[in-house]
Amino acid sequence: MSSKATGRNPSAQELREAERIAALRPSQQRDHPSAVAADPSKLAHINTYGALPEFYIDQPFSCRDCGKAEIWRAADQKWYYEEAKGHIDAKAVRCHDCRKR
Ligand SMILES: [Zn+2]
Repeated sequence: MSSKATGRNPSAQELREAERIAALRPSQQRDHPSAVAADPSKLAHINTYGALPEFYIDQPFSCRDCGKAEIWRAADQKWYYEEAKGHIDAKAVRCHDCRKR
């Protein structure tokens, strides 16, 4: 997989685009080509008083440990929540290198 696919070492342009999309309204994000639809049947483990996610969108973030900018890809979020059964409030806070350590 390329760095583009994983969100590691994103280019400045990729980061700008991810930040732009992250700032859109949810209705605009849902219709964006980079949005990945959620599968509600795989989110049954989530207890939330709020609504379940209908889609995932690339999320730019800065690593809590080293400050490096990365992107948590929509496809990776889908895997994390639906296959790894991650907690819905969990978010990427560390870059790939710091998670490995
Ligand atoms: Zn880091």
